[in-house]
Amino acid sequence: MTDTSPYVDRIARAIAAMDADGVDAMGLSVGADLPYLTGYRAMPLERLTMLVVRPDADAMLVVPELEAPRVVPDPAFHVVAWSETDDPIALVTDLLGGAHRVAVGAQTWSRFLLALQQRLPGVEFTSADRIMGPLRARKDPHELARLRAVAAAVDATMASLVGLRFAGTTEREMARAIADLLVASGHEEVDFTIVASGPNAASPHHEPGSRVIAAGDTIVVDIGGSLAGYRSDATRTLSVGEPTAEVADAYAVLRRAQEAAIAAVRPGVAAEAVDRAARAVIAEAGYGEAFVHRTGHGIGLETHEAPYIVEGSDTVLEAGMTFSIEPGIYLAGRWGMRLEDIVAVTAGGVERLNRADRGLYIVE
Ligand code: ZN
Ligand code: ZN
Repeated sequence: MTDTSPYVDRIARAIAAMDADGVDAMGLSVGADLPYLTGYRAMPLERLTMLVVRPDADAMLVVPELEAPRVVPDPAFHVVAWSETDDPIALVTDLLGGAHRVAVGAQTWSRFLLALQQRLPGVEFTSADRIMGPLRARKDPHELARLRAVAAAVDATMASLVGLRFAGTTEREMARAIADLLVASGHEEVDFTIVASGPNAASPHHEPGSRVIAAGDTIVVDIGGSLAGYRSDATRTLSVGEPTAEVADAYAVLRRAQEAAIAAVRPGVAAEAVDRAARAVIAEAGYGEAFVHRTGHGIGLETHEAPYIVEGSDTVLEAGMTFSIEPGIYLAGRWGMRLEDIVAVTAGGVERLNRADRGLYIVE
C-alpha cells in the first residue's frame, strides 16, 4: 500500500467498465459509489452533489459551495462548486453534453434524475450499479486495510462483552452500553446494535426494547459501525449463566456450519455454494427450517452490498471480495442464535477479518 491516491486508479477502472457497457458518461450522487471514487460522501441534501465521469474528460465533482470545504482535494478529480443562486442541473447538463447513454447512481434522488431527463431529451439513462457493483465488490489493498482495522475494532468490542452484567437490564440499556463500547474500541460511527434476548432472539433483526434480560436467556448481539468509511458487522451469541444442553448442542452445530462455509470460500466458487455448505450442516442436525436467512452479504463502504451469499446467486467469488458468513438458528417463541464474521477471498483461499472468540459467551 502506498500513500498515493487510490481514486485515480478507481476512476480509470470505472471508465474501462463504462466502455465495456456502452456508457459514455456517469453521474454519481449520494450513496457509496461517490466516496468509492472520490473519498467524499455527500450529505443527503436537497442541494445537488454529482460526480460526472467521462472517458473523454477529467472527472468533475459538482458540489454545493457550502459543502465544498468538506471535499479533500485529490488529483483524481476537479471540484466545481455552485453557489446558492446557480442552477446545478444546468452545470451537470453541460458536463453531460454530447453523451448518448448516461449511467446514474442508484441512490440519486428522483428529483435530480427527472430534471436531467427533462433537460436532456433523447439521452438514455441507465443504472450505474452494473458498472460500480462489480468494481466495489473486489476490494483493493487500500480498502482491505480499512476493513481489517474496523474488524479489529468490533472484535475488541466483542471481547469486552463478558465484562458487562446483562441480567436485570433491559435490551435497550445494553444496546446503549454496547454502542459506547463500539466507539471506545475505535469506531468513528455506530451503525446498529441489535440486542435480542430470550424469545426475542428468534427475530433476526429484533429492535432492542424494554424486555428485561434474565438468567437462562440466550442473547444475540449483532453490532457494527464504521471507521474511515468502512463497516464492521459481527454477531456473537451469549448465554446468561450456563446454557441448556439443547442450546449448547445447537450452538455446536452453528459453529460447524460457519466453519464449513468458510472452508468453502476460494476464488472460482459460486456464492451459492458457500450458502449450501452452511445450510447442509444445519439441515443435517434437524434445524434446516430454523435457518431463515441467507448465509451472508458483501460489506465495504456499505454494510450490505454485493456479493450476496445465497441460493440462486451465480456470482463467482474472486480475490478481494469481502462478505459475512452468518448462519443462524431461530426457534420462534423460544430462542435464537447467530454467529457472524467477515471474510475476504484471497488468491489462495480465505482470510478471516474477525478474530474474536467464536464460542458461546457465558455472561452474568
Ligand atoms: Zn450483523
Ligand atoms: Zn451481517
